[in-house]
Amino acid sequence: MTIILASSNAGKLREFKDFLKEFKVRNYSEFIAPFHIEENGADFKENALIKARAVYKALKSQNPKALKNAIILSDDSGISVKALDGAPGIYSARYSSDIVEHPTEASNRAKLKSELDKKGVFSSPAFYTAAIAAISDIGGFSECVELGFMHGNAIADERGENGFGYDFMFIPQGYELTIGQLSEQTKEALSHRTQALRAILPHLKALAKG
Ligand code: IMP
Repeated sequence: MTIILASSNAGKLREFKDFLKEFKVRNYSEFIAPFHIEENGADFKENALIKARAVYKALKSQNPKALKNAIILSDDSGISVKALDGAPGIYSARYSSDIVEHPTEASNRAKLKSELDKKGVFSSPAFYTAAIAAISDIGGFSECVELGFMHGNAIADERGENGFGYDFMFIPQGYELTIGQLSEQTKEALSHRTQALRAILPHLKALAKG
């Protein structure tokens, strides 16, 4: 059985591959040309399903063989900061789109720092959310979506080099270092993505049995 990831975020792909070692994990761009997916859902779960359905539909029409004995897995995730009334939330990937034409992880972090500075806040409670959706034709069409969370504090500073996205600005609960300063193993044990993957794992294993 193959897991086909509906994501082009390198940081997420690495984490998926680390967690799903018992499965053959491939990226959807190995089967079809990557394309833009409009994430217009109202929450993380809806956006995860939108991504998985878009890749499922594209594979079905352009490379149906790839779907045989395969599960499409997608992730929609982001950070919600209390001092910013829950922003950027589902808009985490395009947080700085009002400032730059093509938001990057660095421009998004710069905006987070400037918004915290504007509030005069150095550290605010915050949490990451990950919604992971699975779509498969194994044993008939099925869809499943699960959530995971990681709580902690967002800070108006960048520390460390590990991880990606907002990790350099996020201190998980019970720690004094940012995810950027902690080991990959520590992030894997704590992360919102791991929690969501743990929740969806029984479904993946049931599908793998056929
Ligand atoms: P998505 O790819 O549309 O789900 O956007 C996710 C956004 O949240 C991107 O800006 C990511 O950098 C950020 N994000 C999601 N998960 C993490 C994480 O584990 N660490 C740091 N940033 C993350």
